[in-house]
Amino acid sequence: MADSKLSTYRAKRDFGKTSEPSGRGKAPKSRRLRFVVQKHDASRLHYDFRLELDGVLKSWAVTRGPSLNPSDERLAVEVEDHPLGYGDFEGTIPQGEYGGGTVMLWDRGYWTPEGDKTPEEALADGDLKFTLEGERLTGSWVLVRMKRNWREGDKRTNWLLIKHRDESSVDTEGDAILAQDRSIASGRSLEAIAGGEEPGPTPFIAKSKRKAKPDAVWGTHAPETADQGPANRPAERAKKGSGRSKTPRHAKAAVE
Ligand code: MN
Repeated sequence: MADSKLSTYRAKRDFGKTSEPSGRGKAPKSRRLRFVVQKHDASRLHYDFRLELDGVLKSWAVTRGPSLNPSDERLAVEVEDHPLGYGDFEGTIPQGEYGGGTVMLWDRGYWTPEGDKTPEEALADGDLKFTLEGERLTGSWVLVRMKRNWREGDKRTNWLLIKHRDESSVDTEGDAILAQDRSIASGRSLEAIAGGEEPGPTPFIAKSKRKAKPDAVWGTHAPETADQGPANRPAERAKKGSGRSKTPRHAKAAVE
């Protein structure tokens, strides 16, 4: 099922050049649903919020980052499903490639859907309530889908990420949490990640104790712990690279 969900993800990436996981390998299963927040210093800094569901990471680009204040409604632009293995990726994507910039693992942990609906039904209804058990984000949250404004040429599906009032919410300075700006997987700053400094990130999705390489860069090598699948073996990557090199580049967007 995950394979067809990832076609948009693959179409945007040249796996001959990128060390991001293609998602063709076997993703390690977990009894609990995982979530990841990746701080992405791309054409515009944003936080990629990803929830594991049905073998992929459902993904939203939160332009201003999550807020712990329930009165802050944070725009969350729906983006393509990502492979589970991507949830371990921390490194650099060269400028000019899709999503070019530095990627930091900012938070991760487990999530639990709230309410009677299945999470698939809740997403289809545009109202997904859930609890997070992350290292930085915890408690009850909701993603609410906004109506598309076609007249204003809105081609994206926009959601709002909102914190529910509970013991982990705050009344002021809801984005003070964003001042915690080191990787939860390596302790590194964006600059240290961009510089490929040690240590590499510890994996979470992959059941491995081994740290990934500290200098994971698009085009140099596959992350060892993120995706062990055949698509990341050098011969396969070369083959895929030649096959995909003519794929037209998608228009650059603020949330890449
Ligand atoms: Mn992004």
